[in-house]
Amino acid sequence: MSNPFQNAMTQLARAFSVQSFSQTVIDQLMQPNRQIRVAIPVVMDDGSTRLFEGYRVQHNNWRGPYKGGIRYHEQTDIEEVKALAFWMTLKCAVVNIPMGGGKGGITVNPKLLSARELEALSRGWMRTMHDVVGPKKDVPAPDVNTTPQIMAWMADEYAKMTGDFSGAVITGKPIENGGSQGRGTATAQGGFYVFDALREKLGLPLVCRVAIQGFGNAGSHAAELWTRAGHVFVATSDSKGAIYCEAGIDPKKLEEHKKATGSVMNFEGSTNISQQDLLVCDCDLLIPAALENQLTKENVGQVKARAILELANGPTTPEADDSFFERNIPVIPDILANAGGVTVSTFEWEQNLKGEHWSEEDVFKRLKEIMAREAQNIFDSALARKTDLRRAAFIVALDRLETAFVNKK
Ligand code: GLU
Repeated sequence: MSNPFQNAMTQLARAFSVQSFSQTVIDQLMQPNRQIRVAIPVVMDDGSTRLFEGYRVQHNNWRGPYKGGIRYHEQTDIEEVKALAFWMTLKCAVVNIPMGGGKGGITVNPKLLSARELEALSRGWMRTMHDVVGPKKDVPAPDVNTTPQIMAWMADEYAKMTGDFSGAVITGKPIENGGSQGRGTATAQGGFYVFDALREKLGLPLVCRVAIQGFGNAGSHAAELWTRAGHVFVATSDSKGAIYCEAGIDPKKLEEHKKATGSVMNFEGSTNISQQDLLVCDCDLLIPAALENQLTKENVGQVKARAILELANGPTTPEADDSFFERNIPVIPDILANAGGVTVSTFEWEQNLKGEHWSEEDVFKRLKEIMAREAQNIFDSALARKTDLRRAAFIVALDRLETAFVNKK
């Protein structure tokens, strides 16, 4: 399995080979500013105490406070969190929001914990991290397997430790606890705005057959948004398996089925397929919305999609990128495609700091403006430089980061 941080560094080197930047800037981006590893003790329901390993990587803050989610996953480790923090720095620069890049995590399978254990673990993460995070320092958020409820526990723990009740220390909170309208669907919504801005330019049909890897927060909302816009949602997967239905899957019904059975598999009218088959199924648009390293040199040759839109972070390896570029299959990169999440997170932070609450209409209007503008900008830049969208997105971000760095000196 390729190392996500290595892949991120390869992406950086590739952008640098298209346009040069100050070596000091590149050198500093190759190293996170700070890496924190903690042990979090949790008293389990059986009375035993278990230690969990937690992380926060603060990659870069030239453009603003560190910003990025916290991931709960049994395979999460510091190398993965480092890569994710790096991508956050680039992502925030791509959408031009006043934030730097950070990421956190805990090595745990949260599905194996009771609600009480999950709360204790989440509060424990914040207790050990409360002096390194803060509204003007580092603002965490949800990521894979972390929810608004978890954000509420963490916000509460932070308030108890510090006396700061503004909620601006963490985003993705429930609306009742200072969350923003639209944050729950923001990642998928932002991806949709990017798709909408680029669909015609990328030569995609008016009605696309869409396959979505992962049916979590990003994937399930994407299924709904693309369906609502008249596209056909033909396939999806989860940690247990995958399904395909040429005539189209009703995302609402699938959501109910998943709730009732614990998986997307065996959904009425669809065929069970393997998770690998999902990535190479017959479709126009493939949306990876799960984890890193899914499109690799092993399977890239079989991909039938006409375009890829990365709602996950790091789903495509550099080798797979090369193959897509050669075959003229555009990959709308993660740092653009999934930046809607952190953009609305930043709106939430701003609302908390100002004591405001914006309407959903207002949130989506602002989000659309940013996503459509930057999608266009990156598309034009790729065309002008005869390069792919990932290199173009990196160049847009690196330009902004370099300017921020130079202006500080
Ligand atoms: N975890 C999300 C991401 O990877 C959102 C981060 C945030 O909202 O700060 O972009």
